[in-house]
Amino acid sequence: MTALSGRPGRWVGRAFGLNPGSAVNMRMLCRRPAGQHGAMSLDFDVFVVDPKPIPSAVPGFEETVGPATWPPSTSTLISDDDGALLVDCLITEQEGRQLVAWVKSHDCEPGYVYITHPHADHFLGLPEILAAFPQARPVALAESIPAMEEQISPGYMQVWGGFFPGQLTAEPVSPAPLVGTTVPVGGSAATVIPVGTTDTGHSSVVHVPGLSLVVSGDAVYNQTHMWLSGSTPDSRASWARALDTVAALEADTLIAGHRNPRAADDDARRQIGECRRYLAEFEAALERSSAPAELIDRMTAAYPDLANPYTLWIAAYDLLGTRT
Ligand SMILES: [Zn+2]
Repeated sequence: MTALSGRPGRWVGRAFGLNPGSAVNMRMLCRRPAGQHGAMSLDFDVFVVDPKPIPSAVPGFEETVGPATWPPSTSTLISDDDGALLVDCLITEQEGRQLVAWVKSHDCEPGYVYITHPHADHFLGLPEILAAFPQARPVALAESIPAMEEQISPGYMQVWGGFFPGQLTAEPVSPAPLVGTTVPVGGSAATVIPVGTTDTGHSSVVHVPGLSLVVSGDAVYNQTHMWLSGSTPDSRASWARALDTVAALEADTLIAGHRNPRAADDDARRQIGECRRYLAEFEAALERSSAPAELIDRMTAAYPDLANPYTLWIAAYDLLGTRT
């Protein structure tokens, strides 16, 4: 039987602060003690970055709430004694370098990097990862690759560069198409589950049954405002169906691509339930609102403590107002 040494919710390697990339509860994934062979130790660990400042594009946000920020984000390392899989890899060059140092601190050589969905904030860190681990193969759903290539086109890179001036790679790369539905984790494997449109098209989650773990990308958020800018009734309905697909996996632990640093835990059922409720309440609040401020007020009253309120403001101005 596979030895399960993973303990959910151990948060190490916070990328911001006095000692970026350092780990307070270091676990040595992949490091097989000398002379020991036999049962493989499937495990996972999570690298987290706090919200980071970006220029505000909506009126009144800074005066009302404070500096505009990009949501807190995660990258997950899944491993056994024989190798590792890295899921998503953040956006800035600095984050990419810090993620490399964190992976190395586990004595891990990821054989694969899986990108869950075509949003650049989950894969612009790839060049740093591939420079440090040249044998690692970056892969994603085949149908998501065209959108990933669009994300790293000059026009889109200019947009992303506007959020993070001088902080992004000049040589972005997109993953190769995944063949089949599994990604190797050393001698084990993770399953990729396509979930359709969530906050973007061609989204997927990574399921590791042996750990009762889902790494959700943007299909599920943890105590963080969900990205609904550009959404439609159809896309929001699709997102709700995606939550059903994730729920059917019946995993205990879920690592969200965007996780509130103050979230109590990584309980999968809690997060899926909260996201279902958020989508339903957003739909109802949008229906009753005719101006951005009304939607913002309703959702803020219902969700005063979620991370990254700027995400809500962007959605409100996109769906009901005019951006400045
Ligand atoms: Zn995202």
